[in-house]
Amino acid sequence: MTLSGAIAGKLQRMTFIDENKIHDELLNISEDSGVVMEILARARELKGLARKDVARLTAIHSPELLELLYETARYVKETIYGRRLVLFAPLYISNLCSNECTYCAFRAGNTGLERRCLGRDEIRREARTLAEQGHKRILLVTGESYPSGDFRYVVDAIGTVYEAARAGHEIRRVNVNIAPLDTDQFRELKKAKIGTYQLFQETYHRETYASVHRAGKKSDYLWRLTAMDRALESGIDDIGLGVLFGLHDWRFELLALMQHVEHLEQNFGIGPHTVSVPRLEPALGSEISLSPPDRVSDEDFRKIMAILRIAIPYTGIIMSTRESPVMRMESFALGVSQISAGSRTSPGAYGSGEDDEGGGQFSLGDHRDLDEVIADIVRLGYIPSFCTACYRLGRTGADFMDLAKPGEIRHHCDPNALSTFLEYLLDYASPDTKIAGVKLINDILAGFDAQGRHRASAMLEQIRSGRRDVFC
Ligand code: SAM
Ligand code: SF4
Repeated sequence: MTLSGAIAGKLQRMTFIDENKIHDELLNISEDSGVVMEILARARELKGLARKDVARLTAIHSPELLELLYETARYVKETIYGRRLVLFAPLYISNLCSNECTYCAFRAGNTGLERRCLGRDEIRREARTLAEQGHKRILLVTGESYPSGDFRYVVDAIGTVYEAARAGHEIRRVNVNIAPLDTDQFRELKKAKIGTYQLFQETYHRETYASVHRAGKKSDYLWRLTAMDRALESGIDDIGLGVLFGLHDWRFELLALMQHVEHLEQNFGIGPHTVSVPRLEPALGSEISLSPPDRVSDEDFRKIMAILRIAIPYTGIIMSTRESPVMRMESFALGVSQISAGSRTSPGAYGSGEDDEGGGQFSLGDHRDLDEVIADIVRLGYIPSFCTACYRLGRTGADFMDLAKPGEIRHHCDPNALSTFLEYLLDYASPDTKIAGVKLINDILAGFDAQGRHRASAMLEQIRSGRRDVFC
C-alpha cells in the first residue's frame, strides 16, 4: 500500500462515526406500527438489527408497541442468556485524575474530593474483602493519573488482585475500565490476563464531547474513539463499549454506538463482548451531573436497553449500581445480563467498611449488599452466576461468537452458572438466601433436558462434596 493510501485508510477508520448519516437516519422518523411489528418479528430470528431498524424503534411511544418491544427483548434475552445474571463488583484503586470531565467527581479541578491512590497492601485488602463476600469477578477502575506517571501501576494492581487469594477465596477474573492506552501498553495489559477491557466513549457527539471534556488527554475525541482498534490490534479480543447517557440525545448515541459496533465487526471480525448503559448520576463538585443536558427518562432508558438487546443480541448488557433496585430488577427482563452488586466507588472503601461519600465517583442508587441483591434475584427466578469459565478456557473474541451465535454457549453457561451459584450458597450466603437458592437450583435443573440435567447434576455433586471452581 502507498503511504497516501495508508494515511487515507487510517483517516477513514478514525472517522467512522458519521454524524450526518445519523442525523439523516433520524430525520422524520415517526412511529409506524406496521414497520415496527415487522422489525420486531425479524428480531426474533436473533440475527440483530441494522441501524435503520434501530432508528425506527427509537420512535416507539404507544403503550401497545412499547409492550411488544419489551416482550421481544425478553424473548431474545431468555433465548440466548436463559435466566442467568452474572455478578461483579467494581474495585476503584485510585481517584487521582488529570482530566477535566465536567460530570465526574474525580476531575482534576475538584478540590472537594478526598484523593487516594491505593498501594499494594491496600489493593490486596480490597480484593480479599470482595472475595470473602463471595465475589469472583471484579472490574478494576482508576482515574487517569498513575503514581510517577507509570501505567505499570495498573498492571501491578491486576497481579495483586489475582494473587490476593486466601483460604479458597479468590478473584478469578479482573476486567478493567481505564483510560485509553497505546498499543505497547495494551500488550502489557493483555499479558496481565485481563478479562474485558472496557471503555465508554461517554458521548459520540463531537461538539458535546468537546464541551464536557475541557482539559487533559481525554479531551482528544479520536484518541478515545480509536482505543478499541488499538486494543484489538494488540491482541485484546474481549472489549466493552458504553455511553454515558444524559450528555446528548440518546437516539443519536444509540445509532453512533451501532456505527462503532459495525466498524469493529468489519475491521476485526469481533463485536463488543459487553455494552454498558450508565446514566449520569449526581457527583460531588459537578453541576452538570445535577441537571444532565439530555436527561434520559425511565421510559426512554427501558427503551434503550430493550433496543440494544435485540439489535446486538450476542453482546452482554451491563447495569451498575448507579440505578435504583427497582430499575435494576426491571432491567433483567429487558435484556441486562451482568450487574454489579454491593459496590463502592471510593478507593479503599471495601476494606475500611466506610461509606463512599468523601471520595466516591458518583452517588449510588442501590446500596444493598451482595447477599441482599442475590436474594432479590432469586425471588424473581433469575440465576445469579459467578462463572469465569469462558475467559479462562480461552473462549473469547471470535471463538466465543462461534459458540454463542448457534446457541451452543448455553450448554456451558447453564451448568457453570448453577455450580458457581451453589459455591456461593454453600460458602457465603445467609441462611434464608441459601434455602431459597437451593430450591431455585432444583427448580432450574428440573427444567433442563436430560443431557443438561445430567451434566449439571454431576458438577453440583462435586461442589457439594467440597470441590471448588468446577466449570466446563
Ligand atoms: N477514568 C477512566 C475513564 O474516564 O475512562 C475510567 C474510569 S471512569 C472512573 C469510569 C466511567 O465512569 C466513565 O467512563 C464515565 O462514563 C462514568 N462516570 C463518570 N462520572 C459519572 C457520573 N457522574 N455518573 C455516572 N457515571 C459516571
Ligand atoms: Fe478522570 Fe475518568 Fe472521571 Fe474523567 S471520567 S475525570 S477521566 S476518572
